[in-house]
Amino acid sequence: MREKAEAVIIGGGVTGCGTAYSLAKKGLTDVVVLERGGLCTGASGRCGGGIRQQFTTEANIALAMESVRLFEQLSEELDTDIEYEQGGYLIIAYEDDVDQFRKNVRLQNSLGLHSRFITPAEAQEIVPLLNTDPIAGATFCQTDGHANPFRVVHGYARKAQEMGVEINKFTNVTDIVAVDGHIQAVRTDKGTVKTDTVVNAAGAHSRDIAAMVGVDLPNKPYRHEILVTEPLEHVLDPMVISFKTGIYFSQQKHGSIIGGIGDPEEPSSYNLSGSLRFLKRMARTMVELVPAFGHLNVLRQWAGLYDVTPDAQPILGWTEGVDRFCQANGYSGHGFMVAPKVTELVAELIVDGKPSMPIDDLTLSRFEGEITGEAYVVG
Ligand SMILES: Cc1cc2nc3c(=O)[nH]c(=O)nc-3n(C[C@H](O)[C@H](O)[C@H](O)COP(=O)(O)OP(=O)(O)OC[C@H]3O[C@@H](n4cnc5c(N)ncnc54)[C@H](O)[C@@H]3O)c2cc1C
Repeated sequence: MREKAEAVIIGGGVTGCGTAYSLAKKGLTDVVVLERGGLCTGASGRCGGGIRQQFTTEANIALAMESVRLFEQLSEELDTDIEYEQGGYLIIAYEDDVDQFRKNVRLQNSLGLHSRFITPAEAQEIVPLLNTDPIAGATFCQTDGHANPFRVVHGYARKAQEMGVEINKFTNVTDIVAVDGHIQAVRTDKGTVKTDTVVNAAGAHSRDIAAMVGVDLPNKPYRHEILVTEPLEHVLDPMVISFKTGIYFSQQKHGSIIGGIGDPEEPSSYNLSGSLRFLKRMARTMVELVPAFGHLNVLRQWAGLYDVTPDAQPILGWTEGVDRFCQANGYSGHGFMVAPKVTELVAELIVDGKPSMPIDDLTLSRFEGEITGEAYVVG
C-alpha cells in the first residue's frame, strides 16, 4: 500500500470507484481507495440497478438527468457492456396519488425531463401483463432504465487502476488522524496512508467514518431485501414501481425478474439477514400487479443497507470544521443511479475547487436550516 497519496477514498462501491475514475480522468492519479471487503461488498453489489430521473426535488432530478447522459456513454467509455437498458420507469399511481403525481410531472417537465402522466390503458400498452384494476394511472419516462451494478463498479475500478489509482481491497479503515481540523493520515489494519484529503464513500458506514474526526452525520442504516426469480421469456421493458406499496421490479437481460419491497416496520439496523416476511409481502404485492408472475420460482433473496438521510437526498461536498473532508454518501436508496454525476462533481470539487453544478443544497450544513424532503423513496 502507498505510504502517502493526494487523496484517499474510503469505500469500494459505485461512489468510491466512480470517484477514483473521475479523479484519474481529471489527471489526479495519486489516489488510494480503501475497501474493507471486495469491490461491491456494500449496497452497490446488492442493489436493483434501477436508474430513474422521476424525482420530486430539483436537486435529485438534475443529478439523475445528468447521470443518465453519462450512463448513455458509459459502456463505451469503460470498454465494458454495463447492460444498460432504457426501458423506462412506470410509476404506479393509485387514486389519491393522481393530483400530486401530475404536479410532480409538471416539475420534471419544467426541468426538461420527458415524463408524462398516463391512463391505466396506456400503462397496459407498456406492460401488457399489468393488472390495471387497482390503479388510477401511472407516470412514465422512457429514458429511465437499469444497468448491471457489478459491471459499472468493476469497469470504473479497472479504468482508474489503468490510469494509476491504487485500490486496496480487504483493508479496513480504523481511524482518521486530524490535527486542528486538518487531516494528516488514514489508518487501516494494513498500515497508514498520509494524506490531507479524504472522500467518505463508505455507504451505510459513512456515519462511523465521519465520527472518526468528530463529525456527526444524520445518516441511518436500514435493511432492504430483494430477490431474483428464475429467468423467463422477455415480458417486461420498464422498471415497475409503486411508492405506496414500496415495490419495484424489472426484467434483466438474462430474463430474471429482480425486485424488492420496502417495509415501513423495518427498524434502523445493520441487519443483513433474509426474512420470510419479505418473501410473502413481495410475492403478494407483485402478483397483485402482475398475476402471471404467480407461477415464478424465486432463485435467491438477499439484503443490503440503505444509507438514509432526513430528507432522502445525498450529502455531498466539504465538511465544516474538518478541512478537505468530502462527503459522498446518504443516498437513501438511489445512489447507483446518480453515481456518474455525483462522482464527477466530487472530482471537480477536489481538483478544481468548484463543481460544475451547484451542490449547496446537498452539503451537510443544509440540516442546520429548513429542509425539503424527496417524496419518491422506496421506504
Ligand atoms: C436492496 C437494495 C436495492 C437498491 N436498489 C437501487 C436501485 O435500483 N437504484 C439505485 O440507484 N440505488 C439502489 N439502491 C441503493 C444503492 O445500492 C446505493 O445507494 C449505492 O450502491 C451506494 O453506493 P456507495 O458506493 O455509496 O456505497 P456502498 O456500495 O455501500 O459502498 C460502501 C463501501 O464502503 C465499505 N466500507 C464501509 N466501512 C469501511 C471501512 N471502515 N473501511 C473500508 N471500507 C469500508 C463497504 O464495505 C462498502 O463496500 C439499492 C440498495 C439496496 C440495499
